[in-house]
Amino acid sequence: MRLIKNGYLYQVTFMASVFPVNCYLVEEEDGLTLIDAALGFCSKGIMKAAETIGKPITKIVLTHAHEDHVGALDSLKDMMPEVPVYISIRDHRLMNGDRSLDTHEDQTPIKGGVPKKLTTRANVLLKEGDLIGSLTAIETPGHTPGSMSFLDIRTKAVIAGDAFQTRGGIAVAGDMKPWFPFPAFGTWSKKTALASAKKLISYEPQLLAVGHGEMAVNPLRVMEQAIGNLERKIG
Ligand SMILES: [Zn+2]
Repeated sequence: MRLIKNGYLYQVTFMASVFPVNCYLVEEEDGLTLIDAALGFCSKGIMKAAETIGKPITKIVLTHAHEDHVGALDSLKDMMPEVPVYISIRDHRLMNGDRSLDTHEDQTPIKGGVPKKLTTRANVLLKEGDLIGSLTAIETPGHTPGSMSFLDIRTKAVIAGDAFQTRGGIAVAGDMKPWFPFPAFGTWSKKTALASAKKLISYEPQLLAVGHGEMAVNPLRVMEQAIGNLERKIG
């Protein structure tokens, strides 16, 4: 487990050199909000990170329902049964194993796995603009139909889940990066992801924090580049 701090945000990374999977702890006055739950073996590392920071985890927020983002959720809930879990209304369906699409959505199959044995369900279903402590929920569909990003209103840090990746070079969800193609393999709709990437730019983030790869400081220029790259491919 590797822990990197930037302002109120702590990036917790597992398997940093091989297949990096990040989750995040956002510091609030009275505790920590965990964003995503990494892989099954990560619960001890996540608890250790919170212990190092010195505050309890009081909320668990999920960017989407894929297995590398909900893996440790059941074991974390065993350790902290009182902590509420948040996910978007739309990805709660995916969490329940429902892979159906709505008529207004891009009619292409949802990709990527939700763990079959996952028993935890969300307590709070999120929609655009909801506040979770200092975080605003922003609907950024594309990687999955219900993918959500979170903007820290104190710092303009954006925790984008897999709406972007930075491992293997910065990319919008669905844009295949040969050195780390896995987020692209798991992406549902490139054109929806592209629209969401543009939406994130409009918040002028000061920091971009993603599921796979390092955090990017002052990321606007590289986000614009990544958008241009995917736009040229799917034009
Ligand atoms: Zn992921």
